[in-house]
Amino acid sequence: MYETIIIGGGPAAVAAGVYAARKKIKTALFASQIGGQSVVSDGIENWIGEPLISGPDLAIKLKKHLEAQSENIDLHIGKTVDKVNKKEDGTFEVVVGEEKFDTKTVIVCSGGRHRRLGVPGEEKFEGRGVAFCATCDAAFFKDKDVAVVGGGNSGLEAVVDLMPYANKIYLIARKPEGGLRGDPVTQEQVLNSDQVEVIYEANASEIIGEQMVTGLKYKKVNGDDEKEIAVNGVFVEIGSVPNSEIVSEFVDTDDWNNIIVDCSDQSTSCPGVFAAGDVTNTIYRQNNIAVGDAIKALLTAHEYLKKNK
Ligand SMILES: Cc1cc2nc3c(=O)[nH]c(=O)nc-3n(C[C@H](O)[C@H](O)[C@H](O)COP(=O)(O)OP(=O)(O)OC[C@H]3O[C@@H](n4cnc5c(N)ncnc54)[C@H](O)[C@@H]3O)c2cc1C
Repeated sequence: MYETIIIGGGPAAVAAGVYAARKKIKTALFASQIGGQSVVSDGIENWIGEPLISGPDLAIKLKKHLEAQSENIDLHIGKTVDKVNKKEDGTFEVVVGEEKFDTKTVIVCSGGRHRRLGVPGEEKFEGRGVAFCATCDAAFFKDKDVAVVGGGNSGLEAVVDLMPYANKIYLIARKPEGGLRGDPVTQEQVLNSDQVEVIYEANASEIIGEQMVTGLKYKKVNGDDEKEIAVNGVFVEIGSVPNSEIVSEFVDTDDWNNIIVDCSDQSTSCPGVFAAGDVTNTIYRQNNIAVGDAIKALLTAHEYLKKNK
């Protein structure tokens, strides 16, 4: 029986892991990978203590820090948790493939993943013109016409990432003119570029092609007629969804499936389950915040374990 099992491999999980090891709590950590979402970033400029660090370098540092504590924590890197079951005695069973691990508490730091459009062609052409990370894949679209779907911050940043490479960039936004949601500096960069054409009040409806993407169909929000643009790439940038399914049968989530936490101590609706980072209903999705919240979650779990020996 573990005292705690930490699920995740981003900054939140690593922080919880380091603190658990230092508290000598009997802990296991399961992570599909180490580094978290910003591992794809070229340059992170707000990781406190490092004026500039790449996503891959941050991941290496996080892994090193965790491994430095590995005497006091069982690390299962490359292992994905399928499900957590709540048992009648108030403890939990963590299911990883064919294996099951018992624990008194669970710290959910499973973060988020890309939201998908759910339109025909999206799945078929993934990796063949459909992409979810402009930072990673922009260079593959040199001199090509591309579309970015999403008028929020990530959509606008994707456009900026594509500018040095792509020829023409269409930005498909649901909001009317003036309603882009990104930060003002990025908006200015996008709207002042001759490379960019914003198609407002539009929803992507189909991604088409033969072997590779050749076009994107979209419908105007207030009209039925479907239009088509010729593009070789479609970047889907419509935000993220939380990886909360593993506990959502017995832990309360909000309308967007974020785990609801008490932000004073990261406790959830289920005693013994704590959560931190992008999987929660935090307003701010940032590396440093994920770390701080995860430390809070671990310290609360520690108190819980003391009270429920
Ligand atoms: C492109 C990009 C750039 C960003 N740049 C910045 C930046 O510059 N500065 C900043 O502060 N923030 C940045 N962010 C936001 C930041 O990355 C997130 O807020 C942060 O990663 C959240 O950390 P987390 O640990 O909660 O979750 P995540 O980073 O999402 O990590 C979750 C981890 O858990 C693993 N996992 C998920 N489910 C399971 C499971 N069932 N079993 C085992 N493991 C699982 C995943 O593989 C992943 O490793 C960026 C985000 C993106 C997408």
